[in-house]
Amino acid sequence: MTSVRGYKGKVLRVNLTTKEAVDEPLNLEWARKYVGGMGLGARMLYHEIPKGTDPLSPENKAIIVTGPLTGTIAPACGKYALVTKSPLTGIFLDSFAGGYFGAELKYAGYDALIVEGKAENPSYVWIKDEKVKIEDAESLWGKDTHETEDALKEKYGKDISVLTIGPAGENLVRYALVNHEYYRQHGRGGAGAVFGSKNLKAVAVKGTGRVEVADPEGFVEAAKETTTRHLIEQPDSLFAISWKDQAGTPELSGWTNEVGALPTKNFQSGFFKEMGEKLGPEAVKKLRVRNRACIQCPMACSNFLKVEEGPYAGSMVEGPEYETLALLGSNCNLSDLPAVVALNLLCDRMGMDVISTGNTLAWAMECYEKGILSKEDLDGVELRWGDSEAMITMVNKIARREGIGDLLAEGVKRASEKIGKGSERFAMQVKGLELPAYEPRAAISMPLAYATADRGGCHLRSWPIGVEVWGTFWLDADPEKGEKNIPIETERWNPEGKAYIVYRQQHHYGLKFSSIMCDFALPPISDPIADLVARATGWDDIRDRRELERTSERIINMTRLFNVREGLRRKDDEALPWRIFNEPIQDGPTKGVQIKYKDFKKMLEEYYELRQWDENGIPKKEKLIELGMEDLAEEVERL
Ligand code: SF4
Repeated sequence: MTSVRGYKGKVLRVNLTTKEAVDEPLNLEWARKYVGGMGLGARMLYHEIPKGTDPLSPENKAIIVTGPLTGTIAPACGKYALVTKSPLTGIFLDSFAGGYFGAELKYAGYDALIVEGKAENPSYVWIKDEKVKIEDAESLWGKDTHETEDALKEKYGKDISVLTIGPAGENLVRYALVNHEYYRQHGRGGAGAVFGSKNLKAVAVKGTGRVEVADPEGFVEAAKETTTRHLIEQPDSLFAISWKDQAGTPELSGWTNEVGALPTKNFQSGFFKEMGEKLGPEAVKKLRVRNRACIQCPMACSNFLKVEEGPYAGSMVEGPEYETLALLGSNCNLSDLPAVVALNLLCDRMGMDVISTGNTLAWAMECYEKGILSKEDLDGVELRWGDSEAMITMVNKIARREGIGDLLAEGVKRASEKIGKGSERFAMQVKGLELPAYEPRAAISMPLAYATADRGGCHLRSWPIGVEVWGTFWLDADPEKGEKNIPIETERWNPEGKAYIVYRQQHHYGLKFSSIMCDFALPPISDPIADLVARATGWDDIRDRRELERTSERIINMTRLFNVREGLRRKDDEALPWRIFNEPIQDGPTKGVQIKYKDFKKMLEEYYELRQWDENGIPKKEKLIELGMEDLAEEVERL
């Protein structure tokens, strides 16, 4: 292959140590096999960094990867991936942001950007089409994300796209984020600390090119069809929400509360009685000043909220999204929406992931309640449930690693291992990644979803709680198994068949995050995505269901191989929070529910079998060959 439409065919490599920037050809064989984003990023990262690389060393790399749909008119396809080895988990990390950076990078001529090495002094990278400069960022160091973006836009113009870290990234907080367009974030897993470890304050880009597709007319038709059928009308969706007319992701809070899945008081309960009136969608709408959409998205799911009165008057943020309302709200027993807005804004400006921050604060609150951390340990702060001022003080301490903030900046896994005293039992994380806002005991398959997600405790590899509670599973048909694209009935709390749901959902998400389509865009099946990719690239065979399945499966095996090479095994998949198997949910509709370890173990074994991974969770050589991964099959037995 020499060139393929949908891609620009080029990768930009920036070495901060040598201050060199070079263009390299995109490996089109990898692009065909792994598509883009998550899959292609995993293949590139596997090649780029050796086993055992310290995530915060110059040897780690930050790879920004687009997909064949990025920068096109395909709807809800503006997201792009930041791929690296996570300083929080020590395994694969991909983290996605909406906004315009991915499209601008492609308009500048690149499918991906690899940043490697470490700058001697604080620096930023400026890309104007194919002209690349590494500039001094001494004057930006210490500024928050908004101030940094302001400064770069003042210098280069309002229409540039900027990625930046805040003080948390500079201070290597393990869950520091990379911020984008003020209110968009590569939130999970600590990519901001990787930037900080490289003395990389920001990357700014402006491109003036365009993206060609293989079948322009067909592509326009497919984009229209996807927009109308799958994003606006959503007749096939389990989750038909006209986001634009409602409150966006906060709509989820009513549902999770109703089904007893809303994390409350550090996942002690699945129900927060003040959620509806004080933090729910209606409360959000009262503070909403406008909607916002990512590039080419009819859903416009984001809200800008502004606090007009009270102690947090003047705080304005794009959000809070559902995860923020839950993790900084109910999970910390905080029912004051203006305070959640203020905390959300503070986390964005300091550059910290709200999910990990909410979990860490909730864990510390439980430690304080139980007497494991004293007021003295907490630098004189009484960190009581729902105390927003104490939470704000802690966020500032964490971002700067001041006092107790130095411990909390490590995330709940490391922090709990360090202080012990039983606090590990309520550290709500998987493989070091703090859990998102779906109570794992509220659906029997959710622990399996978290256990087998390639970046740790994550709901964006499969989301079986929706399937369990609604009782219907839209299945991507596998013709070899005689399946059709039809909804299949399933039963909540019954482990039967749940491993298969997780397994197949992971394929759908793998394709989505590689193409790349936003996870809120909800065609329940992969065919419309495959059709868009085929029309963009000319790879007509990807529409074939079997080929599509093989591609998705290859992506999942690629991320697994990265993690296996890092030493991840079955024992790590089984290391779920103690609370899941040993403590029932304390309140609400799921009160008394607890997951049986034997059910989880059985599902995990079924899952390995479906994947054709061995009993230790390692992909079998034959499986990799079957998936066309011969180059990696040879080494799997040595990992
Ligand atoms: S659904 Fe929301 S987050 Fe996703 S692309 Fe559209 S506006 Fe952006």
